[in-house]
Amino acid sequence: MKVTLVRLAWMAWLAWLLTLIVMAWLSYWRVFHASCVYMAIPMAVQALCTIGVLGGGIWRAIRGPRRWNAVTWMLFGILPALWMGALVEYAIRFSSGRNHRPNPLLRWAEGGSSILVEPYVRVFYPHRYEGQRFVMWSNSPQPDQAEMDAMDAHIRDMEQTFGRRSDYKVYWVRGPVLGISGRYGYGWALGERLGFPTDGVGKLQVLDRHEVAHFVLDQVLPRGNEVPKLLHEGWAELHSGWVQEDSREQVWLTQREGKLYSLRELIGPQLYWNSEPSVYWQGCVLVEYLLRQFGHEKFLELCTTCREATFPEDVQRVLGLSLDELDQAYQQDLAGQASPDKRFLTSLRLEEGVDPQRWQRFADDYCAGAERLRTPFRQASVTIVETNDRTDEDGNTTTESHRSEYYHDDHQQVSIRTGEPSGWVSVKSVTPDVQFALHKDDADQPWQLVYYFNRDSRSIFSRAKPYLDLPLKPLSPLSREQAITITEMGANDSTSRLVRISFEDAAHGKPSYRGWWELDPERDYGLVAAEYEYLDAQGARIYSKHMTVEYETIDGHHVPKVACEELLHSRGASRSTYEIESCQFKAPPRKVSELASYGGLRPPESAKEPASSLGILAWIASGGSLLGAGLMLTSVCRRCRQPSFPNS
Ligand SMILES: [Zn+2]
Repeated sequence: MKVTLVRLAWMAWLAWLLTLIVMAWLSYWRVFHASCVYMAIPMAVQALCTIGVLGGGIWRAIRGPRRWNAVTWMLFGILPALWMGALVEYAIRFSSGRNHRPNPLLRWAEGGSSILVEPYVRVFYPHRYEGQRFVMWSNSPQPDQAEMDAMDAHIRDMEQTFGRRSDYKVYWVRGPVLGISGRYGYGWALGERLGFPTDGVGKLQVLDRHEVAHFVLDQVLPRGNEVPKLLHEGWAELHSGWVQEDSREQVWLTQREGKLYSLRELIGPQLYWNSEPSVYWQGCVLVEYLLRQFGHEKFLELCTTCREATFPEDVQRVLGLSLDELDQAYQQDLAGQASPDKRFLTSLRLEEGVDPQRWQRFADDYCAGAERLRTPFRQASVTIVETNDRTDEDGNTTTESHRSEYYHDDHQQVSIRTGEPSGWVSVKSVTPDVQFALHKDDADQPWQLVYYFNRDSRSIFSRAKPYLDLPLKPLSPLSREQAITITEMGANDSTSRLVRISFEDAAHGKPSYRGWWELDPERDYGLVAAEYEYLDAQGARIYSKHMTVEYETIDGHHVPKVACEELLHSRGASRSTYEIESCQFKAPPRKVSELASYGGLRPPESAKEPASSLGILAWIASGGSLLGAGLMLTSVCRRCRQPSFPNS
């Protein structure tokens, strides 16, 4: 059989149709991780035909005969490739965006995701490790068994609560794919890069827990479900480890400010499919409430049967109360709960010698004190000079220092760090609308944008963490992530004014660290001294930390004036000192959080909402199709005028 342009063009179309049918079949039956070969064969045939038709078409267009005709068939033959490119481009644009309104086109084609993702993953994450409930793709030749066991336990815990599970294992990728990370879709969970700090030795990273939790929920829901982001992200956030307490804290504080979104807003057209930060935080608190009050069965029934158009009625039908009643109920429940600080302190395990009632009274006093320490910093401009001295094994000391400016109020949270003497500057700004980071290598260099993205969020910034890290050490993330046991509480030996609390982390039977905090009730229970000892499996000391904080009084508030942290280990020592250079308790200038204040920089084009959801390949494919149709029409007209149709 003679290979002609016409035959090649038709073959390209046939192969394309076959690929689409396979894709639709995989999607319809929800076949995860189908071998690439299913689609690779028709796609390879399509690719060969496209190359053939393109090469042959160009040759004929140059050499003749019937040039016009050759161009027509060439265009016709490459259209499937153009549309395939447009579909892939659309899928990537959709996955990297924040608005995930289900798309019939992608739902029909999602079975093809493996053919896109798998070859990439096999090249960039060549090591495949299989757990009982997952397959991990990693670029490390050495798997971390403790981490793999933790992932299996994480998935099994969630599956047990539902009482059912998927036949499939989740494909867990340890980093971004095609520039996209932190996503779940069609059996693939794109997690955190390897080496990103975990929340504890051998445990899982927050993002990995989160994305895999999406998989577990998705697996028990029917195809084509319309679960709002609020419930899906809420479920994933609730199973992300310690961040669920962060979410609860955010929502608790935002509620206190009267800035929470109502459920009607959260399931309204703006946010139903949108992954906006408040959707995560409020979703986490709501899902926890739904599971506690109504159980997993009802939660699952709601997720399975709800539709976007009828969500309020679905809530009424499944839970027996209206959407507004549910809104009121979960908010009341939240308002009735203790502050996040108190929840944390009262959740700690107490050793036998510690009187629970005394601990409870202490927790009340401490939380009130912490609140007094924080309050003035909710609106503040503070400059801190940080000096780091490091001494190595041979006794050589190096010193470097930073100047850090912090600007903070309800609308902005900006930090500007300057390295001395080299003069580099880095800026981080977070407002409810945008978030960006800048850097310059020294004072004379131009500013460079590190990242910029839009946030449409009602986040409030009432925590003022950076300056209060040491004074509020008992509430630091490190304390919250570990399983601390309070071993002793009492007055300090030398002066009965200070309260001394001893603790240890005994999560795995043996303490991995222990220490004490010394707090001053007359300084709003601010930390005045602390010691931490980190121990190896035999109980021997690996390194130790010692901290001290001195206070001053500004505008009637206790303020940490100088804080010092010393680290001692077998290979040397380091000492960091933080000294407040200036501190003003008033609203900081707005310009510090505006990008244009830094060398007239403007947001990058890609950070703006795209004017059209169509990418460049979609426009090319559309243009090609129109042109092809035009050429075909012209050919047909010419055929009407001439007796013979050229079949090339
Ligand atoms: Zn998520």
